[in-house]
Amino acid sequence: METITLNNGVRMPLLGYGVFRVRPDECCRCVLDALSVGYRSIDTAQAYDNEAGVGQAIATCGLPRQELFITTKVWISEAGDGRADRSIDESLTRLRTDYVDLLLVHQPYGDYYGTYRALERALQAGKARAIGVSNFYSDRYVDLTLHADVPPAINQLLTNVFIQRHTEEQEMSQWGGRLMAWGPLAQDPGRIAGHPLLRAIAAAHGKTPTQIALRYLVQRGIVAIPKTTRVERMRENIDVFDFALTDDEMQSIGLLDRPLDYDRSHANPKEVRRICML
Ligand code: NDP
Repeated sequence: METITLNNGVRMPLLGYGVFRVRPDECCRCVLDALSVGYRSIDTAQAYDNEAGVGQAIATCGLPRQELFITTKVWISEAGDGRADRSIDESLTRLRTDYVDLLLVHQPYGDYYGTYRALERALQAGKARAIGVSNFYSDRYVDLTLHADVPPAINQLLTNVFIQRHTEEQEMSQWGGRLMAWGPLAQDPGRIAGHPLLRAIAAAHGKTPTQIALRYLVQRGIVAIPKTTRVERMRENIDVFDFALTDDEMQSIGLLDRPLDYDRSHANPKEVRRICML
């Protein structure tokens, strides 16, 4: 598995397995399947209600803890000094580990400055090896970073062949921050499977359009964490390191970039309300 080096020197796998919407009772089995086909990086969150399933897999997989890269995120309801610190300890208990490899502020809402300070304390205490944010658009990212002691190592954003985040990536690069793609299959694999350009490039490489979409991200050095509950799809999604897209192919996929739909934007007050009510 290829890795990237974060801005504090920690190495992180370029491709991981995400467990959003994986049922709590299925999560341990899914993570064990993912580990068995070669994943070592697992992305969960307090809000997914399945940290305990990830913890069960960590405890029973038989792999040394240091071979795994575990990410979790602090939710809005746990925001702020004190509360976020306690919630991090609770996450570690559920995950059955003394530390996570990456700890993120899940949303740029509530007292996220207090939450970020809690992340900095967790880093200092060895409860996290790296810290960062998620869903921070460039304005909030820059503001937080200018007022933090530790620049975020990662910003996890909705990123895929249709939403490519070049501007955000450039802004973050000033601090060595790296992009981690949630929704790397656009949460709509049919849209990728049916896309004529991705199909043509896939045929040229003997790969699937899904693999082309994931390869596009990792070839740009963007961490991708596709979710599936099916082991054969886990295998398909991780099998993107034995070929490379040509410069022309990268450029033609680059033309698929579209502005983010305002309905889904974190800058849309309706969406802010919806997320804060979750
Ligand atoms: P994805 O873009 O990963 O898409 C997941 C969907 O694709 C599921 O319906 C899955 O179905 C399907 N799928 C996966 N692989 C294949 C395949 N090879 N062929 C066909 N269909 C496939 O969306 P997610 O929202 O799950 O994003 C990935 C991860 O990102 C999450 O699990 C989570 O860890 C993280 N995330 C973070 C967010 C944040 O706010 N920070 C928000 C949302 C997600 P099936 O399971 O049936 O195979």
